[in-house]
Amino acid sequence: MSPVRTCIVCGKKAEQKSLKRYIWDGNGPVSDDEKKHHGRGAYCCNTEKCIGVFFKAGKKLERAFRLKIHGVFRHNREKENGSEE
Ligand SMILES: [Zn+2]
Repeated sequence: MSPVRTCIVCGKKAEQKSLKRYIWDGNGPVSDDEKKHHGRGAYCCNTEKCIGVFFKAGKKLERAFRLKIHGVFRHNREKENGSEE
């Protein structure tokens, strides 16, 4: 029996080994194919469709990785704007 995980994009449940695992590296999701990273991971179907959505999944990523992505993005924008002052 393999563990079952849920694709955060489409919500489909599948065997863990058939899904792609991503971890958060501080700037964005990076694939963790070798499963050598610890910490919170998010799973996604190994299909172009789901992977394409995965990187733009905003709130779903936020929830999956338990972080505030929008806060990070806003912070970066403020820094860019701030340099013009
Ligand atoms: Zn999916």
